[in-house]
Amino acid sequence: MLVVMAHNASPEDVQVVVDTIREMGYEAAPIPGKQRTAVGLVGNDGNVDASRLEALPGVLQVIHVSQPYKQVSREWREEPTVIELANGTRIGGNEVVMMAGPCSVESEAQILGMAQQIRDAGATVLRGGAFKPRSSPYSFQGMAEAGLRLLARARDETGLAIVTEAIDPEGVDIVAQYADIIQIGARNMQNFSLLRRAGRSGRPVLLKRGIAATINELLLSAEYILAEGNGQVILCERGVRSFDTHTRNLLDLTAIPVVKALSHLPIIADPSHGTGLRSKVIPMGRAAVAAGADGLIVEVHPDPEHALSDGAQSLYPPQFEELMTQVGEIARAIGRELTPRLPSPTHAR
Ligand code: PEP
Ligand code: MN
Repeated sequence: MLVVMAHNASPEDVQVVVDTIREMGYEAAPIPGKQRTAVGLVGNDGNVDASRLEALPGVLQVIHVSQPYKQVSREWREEPTVIELANGTRIGGNEVVMMAGPCSVESEAQILGMAQQIRDAGATVLRGGAFKPRSSPYSFQGMAEAGLRLLARARDETGLAIVTEAIDPEGVDIVAQYADIIQIGARNMQNFSLLRRAGRSGRPVLLKRGIAATINELLLSAEYILAEGNGQVILCERGVRSFDTHTRNLLDLTAIPVVKALSHLPIIADPSHGTGLRSKVIPMGRAAVAAGADGLIVEVHPDPEHALSDGAQSLYPPQFEELMTQVGEIARAIGRELTPRLPSPTHAR
C-alpha cells in the first residue's frame, strides 16, 4: 500500500504518516521523488485501515499496489532506480553499462590481463566467478577466496568495479567483502535464504533470471531483496530454456521492455549465457541494447579454447572491442550513451 502525499504536504505531514503506519504495526518506507512524495506501507496483511491514513493532513490518496510484488513495482516508485558504484558507474539512468570478463577467475595472469583489456576497450565493471554453480559436481568449481583476492587486485590496478557470484547464504559475507556487486545466478534465483542474505549485505545485487522463471517470479525474487531493505537490485535477462537446440538458451529480449514497464529497477542482458555461442553474442548484445537494456554482461576470455568454463560462448578480446564500438553507436541512436571511460590508472602494473 502506498500513501501518496499532496504537492504542498510538509515534511511534518510526511512524518505523521510514517508514525501512524508504525503505530498500526507496519513498516513505513518514505519514497521521496521529483514528481511526488509517497510513503510505502510494508507488510500489508490485508487488515490495514486505509481510511485512517487517508484522513491524515497532506495525504492525496492511498493506492493499493495491485501487483504481487510491491516495492519492486512502478506503482511503488515511478522514477527509475539508479545505482551508483564506487568507481562512478551509474546503472539504471541514461548510461548503458558494460560488464565483461571471464566466466571464472582462473589465474592471476588471466584475470589481471583480462581486466586491463576490457578496461582499455571502455568497460567499467569486471565480471569473474570465484564460486561457480556448475551443473556437474566434477566440473571446475572456482578458485574461491583466492579468486576474490585476485579480483580485488584487478580492481586496484584498473579502477574497474567487480561483480562476482555468491552461491549460498554462508558465502554472501565473504563475497560482499570483495565485490562491488553480488551476483545471484540463474540457478539460485529462487534460493530465498540467499536472496534475504543478499538483501542484508549492503551491496548492490545482480539478480539473474532463472532458466524457467516467469517475469513475475523474477520480480518476486527481487522483492525478497528489497523487503530486507536493499533497494540496489539490478535484474538480468540471461535466457530461458526453450525447445530449440540451436542455442543454449532463448534470450528473451521481450522481457526488457516488459520489466521496464512493470518495475523501476534497472535490467541488463547477458547475451553470453543467453545464446551459449560466441558467434551469436555480438548480434544479441546489440539487440538487447536496442531493446532498452541498461547494460550488458559479457564473457570474454584471452584463450577461450582452454577456458575452465563457458569457453564456447566467450568472446575473444578483439570481438569485445567490436561489441563496445557497436553498442556505443546503438546507445547514441536511442538517445543514450555508454558509461564514460574510467580515468587512466594512477599506477601501472
Ligand atoms: C555466470 O555468470 O557465469 C553464470 C553461471 O550465469 P547464470 O547464473 O546466468 O547461468
Ligand atoms: Mn559462465
